[in-house]
Amino acid sequence: PAEESKKMESWNEGHMEKVLWSSNEIEKRVEEMAAVITQEFAGKPLAIIGVATGAFLFMADLVRKIQLPVVVDFVRMQSYGNRTTSSGVATCVADVRIDVKGKHVLLVEDIVDTGITLSTLVAHFGTKDVASFSVCTLLDKPSRRIVPLQLGPGGKYYRGFQCPDEFVVGYGMDYAEQYRCLPYIGVLKPHIYTKN
Ligand code: 5GP
Ligand code: MG
Ligand code: MG
Repeated sequence: PAEESKKMESWNEGHMEKVLWSSNEIEKRVEEMAAVITQEFAGKPLAIIGVATGAFLFMADLVRKIQLPVVVDFVRMQSYGNRTTSSGVATCVADVRIDVKGKHVLLVEDIVDTGITLSTLVAHFGTKDVASFSVCTLLDKPSRRIVPLQLGPGGKYYRGFQCPDEFVVGYGMDYAEQYRCLPYIGVLKPHIYTKN
């Protein structure tokens, strides 16, 4: 859309190669996902846990569309640094503050890539005596999976879009901490990466 192209130019001086999902497309998909989640968790104590920082916009939009009383919190993971490929290990550097014992936990992620971060979080929440552990990711890059996702009993997996094997930014996702606040998701021009 014309409005988004204008933003692309004024915010990023032509840093974007292409837009994969516009803010309108994202909004529609988030609405659909929220409707499914609302049905699925009706009447159950639900804790929505975002993975900081990448999930912050998706989380904010999703929780406003889920028509249920929920509690929210974040965990912070470390795996990527400023590079565009996985380091092979993920560690939880900040845990939830709320008590999730007995609650249905819905983990909100920006993107599942190798699956290393997610498998670490499955194990992490596995020690917390939760009622169930589910995952809601906006994007999924199945072509790059190293660790398959294994959820416990009652665990559901929701994904917004399948992502091509490209490094994407925007709608929470960064390259070297830049571009998180873009309302759309896209791919940067190659020269942006080779600069560093
Ligand atoms: P995984 O552990 O599954 O390889 O990757 C998990 C995290 O790496 C994601 O939650 C995300 O923060 C980051 N990541 C993976 N792929 C991309 C990508 O294409 N763009 C950005 N900005 N981050 C990514
Ligand atoms: Mg993430
Ligand atoms: Mg990152």
